[in-house]
Amino acid sequence: LIRILFSAGNGDWPEWEDPLRAALAHEGVAAELSAELPPGEADLLIWSPASAIRDLTSFPRLKAVFSLWAGVEKVPGLTTLTVPLARMVDPGMSAAMAEWVTGHVLRHHLGLDPVVRGLKGEWRGLPVPPPARSRQVGILGMGELGRAAGRMLSGIGFPVTGWARHGADSAFARIESGEAGLARVLGAAEILVLLLPLTGATRGLLDAARLQLCRRGQVIINAGRGGLIEEAALLAALDTGQIGHATLDVFAAEPLPPDHVFWRHPKITVSPHVAAATNPATAAPALVANLAGFLRGEGLKNRVDPDHGY
Ligand code: NDP
Repeated sequence: LIRILFSAGNGDWPEWEDPLRAALAHEGVAAELSAELPPGEADLLIWSPASAIRDLTSFPRLKAVFSLWAGVEKVPGLTTLTVPLARMVDPGMSAAMAEWVTGHVLRHHLGLDPVVRGLKGEWRGLPVPPPARSRQVGILGMGELGRAAGRMLSGIGFPVTGWARHGADSAFARIESGEAGLARVLGAAEILVLLLPLTGATRGLLDAARLQLCRRGQVIINAGRGGLIEEAALLAALDTGQIGHATLDVFAAEPLPPDHVFWRHPKITVSPHVAAATNPATAAPALVANLAGFLRGEGLKNRVDPDHGY
């Protein structure tokens, strides 16, 4: 009998228990699933950063860890982890992220703010947006979420260029790589979407020098992690008009402190890390299918490479 420990935030177990049990039954996995297993008995661990477990080395029987979050930068001892770690890939989350990103791209593309704020009785002409096909969108990070967003934006007509560690061409985007590729994406995009993981290589990626490479007046939409952008450099670039606006869903410190300058900055939109949540209804079947395949010896999907941190 396989013993699975679920350890996440206080409110998570009631939300996850039924979908996980149903998925285990569906996959034919005979397992004891519990939120209260002693560490010494757990064969598998389902974990989120809201868990009280801060040391994954104290599990003598542990064979694999399944993260409830797509971002794994908070997994304790990530770079030295010896058991395989799977991150969350949830079709429901990918769809939600694509919609959130598309909504915020369209806000800026169409110039919706004056109308949404209200014209206060003043009937007047507003700038006519160019067609989507002449508005270049760049996406840094073309993984599960970046590709989902890119596919949707490209479907609307936006030319999409992505940036990833490995360059490639997909049906809907050219994917650049390397420093020169990054400079090309930054320089071309009128709207730039960040969907990179936070790793040793991506922390502070958008610093003062790289913000200078951005197309002037660029709108930045960050749904990856706050640490991808250097805050002081972003504020300076907004002041000079080098960056036109920043819509931020993620922050170096969360919750964003109430007195943080971002809250009241006229060129910053603060979104409280809501772009795409893991949805148990779709995520539990996906997680358990991966878990079942792992137990059958088929290997682990969505496996995090500790050397690269994602
Ligand atoms: P993936 O691992 O599927 O994709 C990561 C992408 O980033 C890949 O394209 C990868 O390149 C690229 N990448 C990683 N490191 C580098 C680097 N050093 N240089 C260039 N490209 C790099 O992750 P997901 O798409 O599932 O998720 C992305 C991030 O989104 C998560 O890590 C998390 O931080 C964030 N997130 C935010 C949420 C929110 O609500 N705001 C919700 C969920 C996730 P390659 O393809 O070559 O490997």
